[in-house]
Amino acid sequence: MTQLAEEIRVIIETEGPMPFDRFMELCLAHPRHGYYLTRDPFGVDGDFVTAPEISQVFGELLGLWAAHMWSVMGRPERVRLVELGPGRGTLMNDALRACRVAPEFLAAVDVHMIETSPVLRERQRETLAQAQAPVSWAPSFDLVPDGPLIVLANEFFDALPVRHFVRAENGWCEKLIGNGADGRLFAGISPTPEPLIHAEAPIGSVLEIGAASHQYMAQVARRIADFGGAALVIDYGHAQTSLGETVQALWRHQPIDPLEAPGECDVTAHVDFASLARAAEASGANVWGPTTQAQFLTEIGALQRAEALKRRATPAQAADIDSGVARLLSTAPEAGAGGRMAPGMGSLFKALAVTSYGLDRPPGFDQPPTDIP
Ligand code: SAH
Repeated sequence: MTQLAEEIRVIIETEGPMPFDRFMELCLAHPRHGYYLTRDPFGVDGDFVTAPEISQVFGELLGLWAAHMWSVMGRPERVRLVELGPGRGTLMNDALRACRVAPEFLAAVDVHMIETSPVLRERQRETLAQAQAPVSWAPSFDLVPDGPLIVLANEFFDALPVRHFVRAENGWCEKLIGNGADGRLFAGISPTPEPLIHAEAPIGSVLEIGAASHQYMAQVARRIADFGGAALVIDYGHAQTSLGETVQALWRHQPIDPLEAPGECDVTAHVDFASLARAAEASGANVWGPTTQAQFLTEIGALQRAEALKRRATPAQAADIDSGVARLLSTAPEAGAGGRMAPGMGSLFKALAVTSYGLDRPPGFDQPPTDIP
């Protein structure tokens, strides 16, 4: 049993069974044993690989997207460039380097890195040691000072905890984690249903609610609506709200039961883009998309960027550039974690933009968001 599992058992003994979102939050963010707080999980030796670690083109294009948005925002004298959950800092580093072609934007930027993990904060500090803009860190978005802003978030919302409700005979009952007699944790459901959920579905259906994501998005969108700006969210998930549980735990690229090794494995859930979009709109901002990552990156010039980089590359580097970009854009099913087939990153991942009213359609969102899953 992991140290965190023991702590969770003690909490359950004193407070009773805990909702799944509390369990997920402890797994990821417990101050001593939380997954992100104790390690750098990225890369081939870690538990998963993210887009900025696959290709520099990803961060570079997001940087140029931000510079473009600053210019359509009327080039405010100071703009906060905020990244939520920046991992190793690779995306921001690539973004700032690409923006050397827009020196006036760089001169206006204050970078704010929103990160809860001290290990990753240190890693980001090293990555951004030569950054050409002032960089500061905060553990949550509300600490970023007011003002016009551009927010980037790649694989951030999938790390925010979700609640599960199971359709039982007597209504929708919340999934709770309890202590099993055999010393293990187990998942059960609350005996009393949640009175506010009325959806019709067969017995046994699961409703996954990303309450923490909605709140985070609402906060970001309100700031954008009040001070002007834009946000770009890229994550894996679905464009339409649907029933079903999407939580996935990964340990060294292999799926495992999240109850088996709390704190030792990454736990994520697919992002429900339709409900993120509703949260942003309800806060007074405009929403664009979602579109697929492939569509978004292609529209903003991924292939042209790759060609430009290849002109100055050795043949081996050129092959790496091609394979990295191909992976980001791939829509063909491929073997994912544990060898299971999953859609390629290009279609599994979606992009959603949020802007203040009055701003034109942002680059990358020309394609109407029709029937993408
Ligand atoms: N964007 C990066 C990393 C994604 S992993 C990339 O694309 O490579 C998720 C990141 O979000 C990690 O840096 C993790 O420490 C951070 N994180 C998770 N929950 C957070 C929270 N509530 N507030 C701030 N950062 C968080």
